[in-house]
Amino acid sequence: DMSPSSPIGVATTYKVPFTSEDGLNSGLIDTVRATPDTCTDDFSRLTILPYLSPMKQPYLLVFLALLSLLTACSQQTGTADCGNGEATASAETIEWKMVTTWPRDFPGLGTGANYLAKIIGEMSGGRLTVKVYGGNELVPPFEVFDAVQRGTAEMGHGGAYYWKGKIPASPFFSTVPFGLTGAELNGWFYHGGGLDVYHEAYEPFGVIPYPIGNSGTQMGGWFNKEINSVNDLQGLKMRIPGFGGEVLKKVGGTPVNIPGAELFTALQNGTIDATEWVGPMNDLAFGLFRAARYYYYPGWHEPGTALEAIINREAFNALPADLQSIVVIACKASNMDMYADFEARNGEALKTLVEEHGVELRPFPDEVLAELKRASREIIEEQARADEMSAKVWASLSSYMERVKGSTAIGSQYFVNRR
Ligand code: CA
Repeated sequence: DMSPSSPIGVATTYKVPFTSEDGLNSGLIDTVRATPDTCTDDFSRLTILPYLSPMKQPYLLVFLALLSLLTACSQQTGTADCGNGEATASAETIEWKMVTTWPRDFPGLGTGANYLAKIIGEMSGGRLTVKVYGGNELVPPFEVFDAVQRGTAEMGHGGAYYWKGKIPASPFFSTVPFGLTGAELNGWFYHGGGLDVYHEAYEPFGVIPYPIGNSGTQMGGWFNKEINSVNDLQGLKMRIPGFGGEVLKKVGGTPVNIPGAELFTALQNGTIDATEWVGPMNDLAFGLFRAARYYYYPGWHEPGTALEAIINREAFNALPADLQSIVVIACKASNMDMYADFEARNGEALKTLVEEHGVELRPFPDEVLAELKRASREIIEEQARADEMSAKVWASLSSYMERVKGSTAIGSQYFVNRR
């Protein structure tokens, strides 16, 4: 029970360390836990009083005395209410389900879902617990959105681009070919207006989205055919979903949609010439190096792909404010944690691919990247013309990119090339 009528307990005065603004005085100062709720141990109500110069300390003592008097007056009611059970309402536990598009414990993605659920449980002291379901355990992977929308599950964990059929603008929140890196994308979400348009796009569906991880810049993919010029893209049969597939089509290639499970065989028997997947960590685990000769870079089509948590709006609104905050902050912490996981483990996996499995790394030629970039802009502009929300999201994202790319170029980009 977090309402203002919660019982008020005993005020206690104790010492806290302080340092004066000029840094010359330090020591301990009396402070008061002004309106402590002894039933719920609500530390959010803790009041730390500022350090005052010796001249002003008499005023502080008067204030403390008045405060003690006030809290002592309300003490009677507080202690009386403690034992009758009302104050234990906050111990009530809420159980949520999280459905995911990933196989259970899938490296990076499934484990990211587990982490998000775990920290929500821990931060709430068990008041909100989240049970994770892998793809097909409660609903099939591509029904995750519907399940959260209708409240079968309160949360979902997947990728925004999966919902393109319902929300044409959704792929913009995953990644855009030749768009933002993971670090830049986080800047857009949290401090560049990205989260606002993200929420607006999902609003009609009663679902609240948050970014909850990033793969970092992906790899260009696994090829059994060399790409030396733009001509080599002609007729190239490649498994590449989303905007990337549309771009490949525009430059004369043939995007093929093949489920992950059939990918290895299709590449091995020549049904496809190439496939992209994620990056070194996931690609190594998948064993794709056994079915293709060249590993091309960079992942121009997925320069920093964000993953996504979706929350049923009614379920979210029914939470007390502190649990709402815990869910939002847990999403933010998960976002950072998964990104860091990919960054750390991609490096190790790439070393293994090259040193232990003899994988041949190849950069796409500059003229090929220039052609793919030209086609990418065309595809995105077409999408923006066809859908109002896409136009709004692209306007926000592209203007943000213009604002930050200068500092990226002379900052991290310039530096890393010379490290
Ligand atoms: Ca990919």
